Amino acid sequence: EEQNVFAELKAKELEEAKEELETNAERLELSSRYKSEFLANMSHELRTPLNSMLILSQMLADNPKGTLTPEEQEYALIINNAGNDLLLLINDILDLSKVESGKLEIEAEPVNLTELPVALEAIFTPIATQKGIEFRIVMEESLPSIFYSDGQRLQQILKNLLSNAFKFTEQGAVTFSVGYSSGTKEGEGQDGMSYLVFSVSDTGIGIPEDKQLQVFEAFQQVDGATSRKYGGTGLGLSISREFAKLLGGTLTLESREGEGSTFAMYLPHTAHGEEAGERLLPAA
Ligand code: ADP
Repeated sequence: EEQNVFAELKAKELEEAKEELETNAERLELSSRYKSEFLANMSHELRTPLNSMLILSQMLADNPKGTLTPEEQEYALIINNAGNDLLLLINDILDLSKVESGKLEIEAEPVNLTELPVALEAIFTPIATQKGIEFRIVMEESLPSIFYSDGQRLQQILKNLLSNAFKFTEQGAVTFSVGYSSGTKEGEGQDGMSYLVFSVSDTGIGIPEDKQLQVFEAFQQVDGATSRKYGGTGLGLSISREFAKLLGGTLTLESREGEGSTFAMYLPHTAHGEEAGERLLPAA
């Protein structure tokens, strides 16, 4: 008899604890969503006044009437540069909060794989030349010329990875390559799925092993905030990883301090483009 009462009490306690946990989880989810929505709205509202500041400071810096002293012109340029940095940061925060609140729309469309390297070359060859670094592009033979993905997001990821590669490399080469793989680094693909691998390798400063997970978190940079040597917001890699997930893929990192880094993105690819495209639609 006594034991039964005890068991009932215990069961009731457990039930209550479970309910409390569920309410807490719901609250957490809700507050996380509010945070993301708040950030998204804020970022949007911040851009409007910032755009006026950017346009007007640029007009001042151009000094059309020739009435500014060189020093005043320099100040206008500094305002303009700082404004541009702020705009990049706001855009990054906006992207990240959109992903987090599930508001980012992915658009599956035919992406022309032969045009991709041309576009990247146009952007990064000048940077390579300026830094005295080689920029190599390696496209595996017999790649499809068209594959289904969100071209804009794909480019954004690759631009992030390539900008980092050039930023953190002083000599040697940055290599962009596209190839096939039958599995991801984490394991073989399911159902004979094959992957397109987009990788960016550099011979730069590398990332210490104990920081290799951290760098994918928002605002995490290897050289801490107080000793910043390189510019940037610390958001690029977390955005890139979230985008890669949205595209149905994964983003991996291999690196050795002092030797270089390789970021590889695996995107699922089937012979039937439409199917691969369908997989991209955000989960209901
Ligand atoms: P950001 O480049 O704006 O600082 P990211 O999220 O793109 O932000 O990168 C986070 C950090 O990861 C960088 O600050 C840097 O410390 C490290 N990192 C990223 N890419 C590389 C790379 N190719 N080589 C060395 N370190 C890198």
